[in-house]
Amino acid sequence: MAFMHFNKSIDILNSIDIENLKVSKRYLIDTLGYVLAEDIVASYNSPNYPTSAMDGYAIKYRDIEMGRLKIVAINPAGEDIDDEVVSGTTIKTFTGSLMPKGSDTLIPIENVEVDGDYIVIKERVPFGFSVREIGENFAKGDMLIPKGTEINFTHIGVMASLNIVSPLVYQKPKIAILSTGSELLELGETQTKSSQIRSSNNYTIEAIVKKYGGEAVQLGCIGDSKNTILNTIRDALDGNDIVVTTGGVSVGDFDFVKDVILELGCKVLFKGVRVKPGQHIMVARRDNKFIVALPGFAYSSTVTALIYLIPLIEKFQNTKSSNLKIVEATLLEDFTKRQRKAEFTACRVIVKDGNYFIDFKDKKSGTSAIMTNMLGNSALLITSEEDSSKNVGDRVKVMLLN
Ligand code: AMP
Ligand code: MG
Repeated sequence: MAFMHFNKSIDILNSIDIENLKVSKRYLIDTLGYVLAEDIVASYNSPNYPTSAMDGYAIKYRDIEMGRLKIVAINPAGEDIDDEVVSGTTIKTFTGSLMPKGSDTLIPIENVEVDGDYIVIKERVPFGFSVREIGENFAKGDMLIPKGTEINFTHIGVMASLNIVSPLVYQKPKIAILSTGSELLELGETQTKSSQIRSSNNYTIEAIVKKYGGEAVQLGCIGDSKNTILNTIRDALDGNDIVVTTGGVSVGDFDFVKDVILELGCKVLFKGVRVKPGQHIMVARRDNKFIVALPGFAYSSTVTALIYLIPLIEKFQNTKSSNLKIVEATLLEDFTKRQRKAEFTACRVIVKDGNYFIDFKDKKSGTSAIMTNMLGNSALLITSEEDSSKNVGDRVKVMLLN
């Protein structure tokens, strides 16, 4: 099968339509990081009554001229008092207290001197000073947070103030993660043969899933046995929305993942893309479930997870809220385009006066096994297969990683 243009693979990914997305109500504070499945509209005015914004004395503005007013009552926050400010009088009122009837302005404590039962106004304020108007924060009917928003601390606070105990959110897709390769050692497992290597992919993917809105189900590593791979992926498909595998999609004798996907009756959305790293990437679908089969090399599986897995996670939540920003940057070094493929090249990013610059300082060249190229202030330079080499000063597209 001929490898596909990178843009075509992205088009296919974007056009994925998942029916009947799962939603559920969750206790407010447990919705942090979830995506709203309902619009949040203000059900009342905040504040609902004129409210004092400072500690001081509630007055009629026109009484300021008198300079001296009698204190007739005290009005703590949380009390509904019946007392009224009539001309020549004032009621001591605090931050968060409702403004008493008859008053329209608050003189702060700092602006008066108390003389027995009276205040003497030392410094005037304008009409309505320090009174929070009805609806200052939000008015009944205001659309405050639209459906599709990823919930952060501000949204939690606004929903709490609206007494929304359990907002409706999209369920996070359950994502099973599996690394294949007979050479792989789990985290902490004792090495018994020189040919073994430590698996990193399944942990990188778990971290990406957790960070970008999926519910990770870690299945660890399995060897290159076709039967084991078949049984494991089949079971994983039953209980999860997405199964992510790493390794075993290339052209080697022991690369069984790609065959297993076909045997499980999945429809291949694409297999083989003109992209570097990760050209053997395979994405398949069965009903509303997906298999994302990433290549084995650590840099390849990481980059292809960023490109293909994160948008799929978002599809399950009807959002496009990924934090992975693509920005324009200026090259501080020449970039030699060697292959006619879309390329995601690790680079160092420098921000100066709000502008992005990149170079390739300390970036090793070699295979797609070099994961450490993404440490530090790294980003990915994005070039298309139609691009030619770039020169110092050229403007380029960069995917920020942090
Ligand atoms: P494969 O795609 O299975 O041919 O694997 C390609 C390369 O990636 C091999 O050198 C593997 O040792 C390496 N590799 C495969 N799986 C992992 C993993 N889980 N963690 C780190 N490296 C891996
Ligand atoms: Mg392998």
